[in-house]
Amino acid sequence: MSASVARADRPRVGMVGGGQLARMSAAPAAALGIDFRVLATSRQESAAQVVSDVFIGAHDDEHAVLAFADGCDVVTFDHEHVPPPILEKLEARGIAVRPGPHALINAQDKAIMRRTLEGAGAPVPAWRVVESVDAAEEFAKLVGYPFILKTSRGGYDGKGVWRIEDGQQLAGVMSGELPPGAQWLAEEAVPFVQELSAQVARSPSGQSVAYPVVRTVQADGICSEVVAPAPGLDAERAVAAQRIALEIAGSLNVTGMLAVEMFDTGEELLVNELAMRPHNSGHWSIEGAVTSQFENHLRAVLDLPLGSPRLRAPAAVMMNILGGDVGDLYSAYRHVFARDPGLKVHLYGKEVRPGRKVGHVTAVGDDVEELTMRARHAADYFMG
Ligand code: ADP
Repeated sequence: MSASVARADRPRVGMVGGGQLARMSAAPAAALGIDFRVLATSRQESAAQVVSDVFIGAHDDEHAVLAFADGCDVVTFDHEHVPPPILEKLEARGIAVRPGPHALINAQDKAIMRRTLEGAGAPVPAWRVVESVDAAEEFAKLVGYPFILKTSRGGYDGKGVWRIEDGQQLAGVMSGELPPGAQWLAEEAVPFVQELSAQVARSPSGQSVAYPVVRTVQADGICSEVVAPAPGLDAERAVAAQRIALEIAGSLNVTGMLAVEMFDTGEELLVNELAMRPHNSGHWSIEGAVTSQFENHLRAVLDLPLGSPRLRAPAAVMMNILGGDVGDLYSAYRHVFARDPGLKVHLYGKEVRPGRKVGHVTAVGDDVEELTMRARHAADYFMG
């Protein structure tokens, strides 16, 4: 635990979670001259390495969260897993929780999210909570095989998502254990032509800004590549995607950044997922936008006027660096920097494990193909 003196002349934002999103929030917090505190599980966590005001504790330990929040003006999140009763306790103590528990629950549980979105009139894939293999087979009769089976809670980076090809596979997957509080969720397999993410920032007083809609590419369920703006997305559909995201932010009363992940089928847009925090699909904005998602998240949770989300150049391409064979990422710097002085690299200080997100690279410029090649070369080099 660390103590730091509260200052009357500037607010303190506390972020629950010590991952790379908190780490990348620390830079704009410093630039804005606000105090920034993190609740991390250990000193070795990504954000705990670079933030001076760190509390060590678990996000689901009420005592730890309350101690961390004491002295914060606003509490916000690097992940969505804090149990709602703890957040309600914080609110009862007069600490602003942004986004609030009623919004956040939709990012914690995909079944609740689907129900809320349907109620708000947002377009979603056909879906159903299925309590048994029989119920899932009934659903399959409606939408056909393959369909998508998910756990409503506890999934990330494609874990907890299965493409079900037949009854045998279905029975196998459903014989597995559900994460605590989770249900099985069956969805039609949407035949998308691309996956999009529409990010907006929204402040408690209701100001919202919409970032350019981006294309996301996933490999094995993990985001590997983001292109801003989404290539080939016509202006009308891009505006439709932004409007969907703005409407969801408003109707769910989201404060801070909201990412709405969508499927573009070529004919319609369907909402897949919500994230109520800075998101991997917005890392490009650090160099590519006038105001990064991390800065706008801080501005939004502090109810400050929001910064421009506009691109600084015609395009930006971000590639994730996933853990590969090389444990020492720093050794790649000499080659990557010498080859491409225009490229920007972010390493998260995380131990390299196969498939783990350990950093990203961004290239900003005019030509998407050229930017993609440059970013891919660097990311591949880091991954060995
Ligand atoms: P996570 O919480 O792990 O990000 P998602 O629900 O976003 O899980 O699913 C991960 C990926 O699985 C999506 O990016 C998409 O590629 C695929 N997917 C998820 N749901 C569907 C669906 N209904 N139809 C087709 N593909 C899907």
